[in-house]
Amino acid sequence: MDHQQYAAGEPPLPPHVLIFPLPLQGHVNSMLKLAELLCVSHLYVTVLLSEYNHSRLRRHGDLESRFSRYSGFRVATIPDGLPDDHPRNGERAIEIVLSLKKIGEFEFRKLMESTDALSDGGNRRRVSCLIMDGVLSFAIPVVEEMGIPFIYFRTASACSFWANFCFKEVMEAGELPLKGKDEDKYAYWKKEELDLIVTSVPGMEGFLRRRDLPTYVRVDNADDPGFQTILTETRRTAASSGLILNTFEDLEGPIMDQIRKHIPNVYSIGPLHTHLKYRLDSEKVESTQNSSSFWEEDRSCLTWLDSQQANSVLYVSFGSVTILSKNELLEFWYGLVNSGQKFLWVMRPDSIIGNEDGDENKVIPLELEEGTKARGYMVGWVPQHEVLAHPAVAAFFTHSGWNSTLESIAAGMPMLCWPYFADQTINSRFVSDYWKVGLDMKDTCDRVVIEKKVREIMEERRDEFLERARSMAELAKKAISEGGTSSSNLNRLIEFIKASV
Ligand code: UDP
Repeated sequence: MDHQQYAAGEPPLPPHVLIFPLPLQGHVNSMLKLAELLCVSHLYVTVLLSEYNHSRLRRHGDLESRFSRYSGFRVATIPDGLPDDHPRNGERAIEIVLSLKKIGEFEFRKLMESTDALSDGGNRRRVSCLIMDGVLSFAIPVVEEMGIPFIYFRTASACSFWANFCFKEVMEAGELPLKGKDEDKYAYWKKEELDLIVTSVPGMEGFLRRRDLPTYVRVDNADDPGFQTILTETRRTAASSGLILNTFEDLEGPIMDQIRKHIPNVYSIGPLHTHLKYRLDSEKVESTQNSSSFWEEDRSCLTWLDSQQANSVLYVSFGSVTILSKNELLEFWYGLVNSGQKFLWVMRPDSIIGNEDGDENKVIPLELEEGTKARGYMVGWVPQHEVLAHPAVAAFFTHSGWNSTLESIAAGMPMLCWPYFADQTINSRFVSDYWKVGLDMKDTCDRVVIEKKVREIMEERRDEFLERARSMAELAKKAISEGGTSSSNLNRLIEFIKASV
C-alpha cells in the first residue's frame, strides 16, 4: 500500500496518469481525447506538452475551458529544444524528434524529480502510470527508477505500427532500405521496382508494395539515424506493460493479432473522437467544441457548407504538417477547378513553400480565381469533425494522416488519398486495397490525374465506396458502444491503471 498518499481516515487519492504525446498536432489531438476519457472515469491526469504547443493551444484551442470541469486535470510543460521560429512542419518535423532525443531525458528527469513526480505538494498522488507516445523512450529510465509502469500509446494506425515493427525482417529479406534519399522526388516516384511486393510483413503479403512503405525508409544505408530511431524505438514498445491504439478490431483486427504475438496486451480503443463523445453523452457531461487546434478554426466554412447542396462538396485537407511547393499547389488547384466539382480546401498559412516571397509571386491565374469563386471555398483551418459530419460533404481528399483517416471512416466518408510522408503511405494503401473505401493517388502530382480522380471519387465510383464506408462507420459505432470491443478495452485499460497504484 502507498502510505504517503493519504492521511488516516481520508479516502485514497485517485490514480494519477501522466500522458506524454509527441508535440505534433495529430498526436496531441488523440492524446487529449484519451486524457478526457480518463478524466470522465475519475482518474487524475497530467498531460505533458511542449511549451511551444501549449502556447498555441492556449491561443487557438479550448483546452482550459474544456478541462476546467475536471478537477484532477493538469498540464505540465517542457521545452522541445527548438527555437520559436523553427517551422516544425514538412520534412523538418523530424527535427522535433531529434531535438527531444537530445534534451528530453534531462528535461523530463528535471520535471519529475523537482515536483516529486508531479504530486502537487501531496494534493495528488505521485504519477502512478505513464502513457507515452513512440520515440520518447528517453523517459523510460526515469520512470523505471521511480517504479512507475508505462504503456505506449502509438497514435498511428496498427498497420503502420506493425510494418515498422517488422523493418528488421524486411531488411534481412533485402527489401530495405530503399535507396534514393537525395533523388528528385518525381523521378523517384516513376521507378518500377517500387511496385515490387514486400514479402516480409506478415498479414500484408500480396498487397503491400515497396512504394507503400513510409518515406523514412528511403535512405542510402541502414545506419541512417532517422531510420535507426524508428527501427529501435518501435521494437522497444514490446518492453512496456501494454500498447494503446486508436483503432478498432473490425478495422484492423488481423493486424493486431500479429502485433499480439509480440505485445500481448493491446488496447484498441478507437475511434477516440466518437468514443469520447459517446462516454460524455452516457455520463451526461455536456460536449464542448472539443478543439485542440494549433491554428484558429475558421467557422465560416460551415456557413458556406450550409449554402451548398447535399453531397456536393469535396473536402480537401492535407493535415497539419504537409507542405506543398508552388508547382504542386498549382497542379492541385487546376485539378480541382477543372474537375468542375465544388470544394472546400484547407490551406494552412504555413503550408506553401515560398509563400513569404514578394507579391509578384502570388499572382493567381485568372481561371483559377474565377473557378474558385464559382465553386470553391478556401480557409486556413477548419473544425474537421463538424465538416466531415456536414450533409453537403461528399468525399474527403486527404493526406491520409491516421486521425483524418479514422475520422473519415467514422463519418462513413469515401476518401481520395494523396499521402505526403511517414505512416500515410501505408494508410492510403489500406484505404484503397484493403478496406476499399477510396482511391490512392500516391506518387503523382499532375493536374490531369487529379481532375480524373476527383471525378471518380465524387461521381463515377462514389456509390461503391460509400456503401463500404457506411458499413465501416456502423462497425466503428458498434466498437465504441457499451459492450463493443473498444469500449471493453478502455474499461480494461482503466482497470489496469487502477491496479497499478
Ligand atoms: N484538423 C482540423 N482542422 C483542419 C485540418 C485538420 O481540426 O483544418 C485535425 C484533424 O481533425 C486531425 C488532425 O488535425 O485530428 C490531423 O491529424 P492527422 O493524423 O490526420 O494528420 P497530421 O496533421 O498529423 O499529418
